[in-house]
Amino acid sequence: MKTPFVSKEQLDQITKEFPTPFHLYDEKGIRETARAVNEAFAWNSGFKEYFAVKATPNPSILKILQEEGCGVDCATDVEVMMAKKLDFKDISFTSNDTRAEEFIYAREVGAVINLDAYEHIAFLEEVAGLPETVSLRYNPGGVFALGTDIMDHPEESKFGMTKAQLLQGYKDLKAKGVKNFGLHAFLASNTVTNDYYPTLAGQLFELALEIKEETGVELSFINLSGGVGIDYSPADKQNDIAVIGQGVHEKFDQILVPNGLGQIKIFTELGRFMLASHGHLVTKVLHLKDTYRHYVGVDASAVNLLRPAMYDAYHHITNVSNPEGPLQVVDVTGSLCENNDKFAKNRELPEARVGDTLVIHDTGAHGFSMGYQYNARLRSAEILLQEDGSAKLIRRAEKPEDYFATLYGFGLEG
Ligand SMILES: *Cc1c(COP(=O)(O)O)cnc(C)c1O
Repeated sequence: MKTPFVSKEQLDQITKEFPTPFHLYDEKGIRETARAVNEAFAWNSGFKEYFAVKATPNPSILKILQEEGCGVDCATDVEVMMAKKLDFKDISFTSNDTRAEEFIYAREVGAVINLDAYEHIAFLEEVAGLPETVSLRYNPGGVFALGTDIMDHPEESKFGMTKAQLLQGYKDLKAKGVKNFGLHAFLASNTVTNDYYPTLAGQLFELALEIKEETGVELSFINLSGGVGIDYSPADKQNDIAVIGQGVHEKFDQILVPNGLGQIKIFTELGRFMLASHGHLVTKVLHLKDTYRHYVGVDASAVNLLRPAMYDAYHHITNVSNPEGPLQVVDVTGSLCENNDKFAKNRELPEARVGDTLVIHDTGAHGFSMGYQYNARLRSAEILLQEDGSAKLIRRAEKPEDYFATLYGFGLEG
């Protein structure tokens, strides 16, 4: 059973103060997860989680993670600006198809640059000069499998470089005077198994030995990146980060330590695992409609949460106002002029009534941040449920003048 992290009484209070829809984040849960991740990798003295900013780019959230000892991974110069403004000391920059200005800026603020392409070595050198520390992103091609389970298809992924390019890259960088080296790979997304990180780590640790042998480069850090998933569906098993950390530890002790590479630091760039389950999209039922199906129309839409429309992703829904109501099979829809604007299809839910409050679960990562403004539907507010139980507005909802602000000569720019 998935239950909201907020009680009905709390939600009634919050929705009285702030109009729906909004994303609500759970500070207590965020801190607990950050601590569990740090604890799981405490065996590695240089361990750091670089939270993937793109998952939840809100300064109040980033500040909480900073207090818990996390750094940030940025993909664009604007994300780096946010990190810089928040005074993050540990910033990594993992981008692809990167503009020159972005490399220049990342270099200027001292972010650790992780290169997506062999070709970017020459590009970075030309536009910004090579820093002392450079990380390279690996793509082994083929499929990424755990036993007989195919988890993802790296050969179809635009990210990373081949092994030959990687080895040549380290040789080139070393010859050009680079001093510290990192290795990065992201081979499967939203994995719901404790074996993903340990399997990935095993492959990267073996590769570290090969890199040392072929190029003489001893890596300073290995970045396992993101990809550890959460249980979006009640049918999914929850990942156990302690078991995952232990699994990576075992590979580390088996492969790196006996080969004199026990000083390598482990980094992660988790986004989803850190935040997804600590966010709810809170919405109210506006209308009921019966045609060939039963429709529950809510005041949120795909602009607030794109994952169902984009990936047909499952997000659990709780009717907080009528949890014991008789079950009904319904489609839960937003208002966009797009038939994919559905949060649930043929879902069995307790009877929804006009005015009921629904919680759409697990929207804390890649939720608000993937939002857009189709149909001139504006972005929602973001609210933090603080540890003391009080609610704090951490981003206001957009107003029409925000939507018009970038136009010239229209007269409604505000
Ligand atoms: C998106 C992304 C992440 C975070 O991925 P999650 O699946 O949210 O953990 C980490 N690193 C990079 C480079 C990414 O692009």
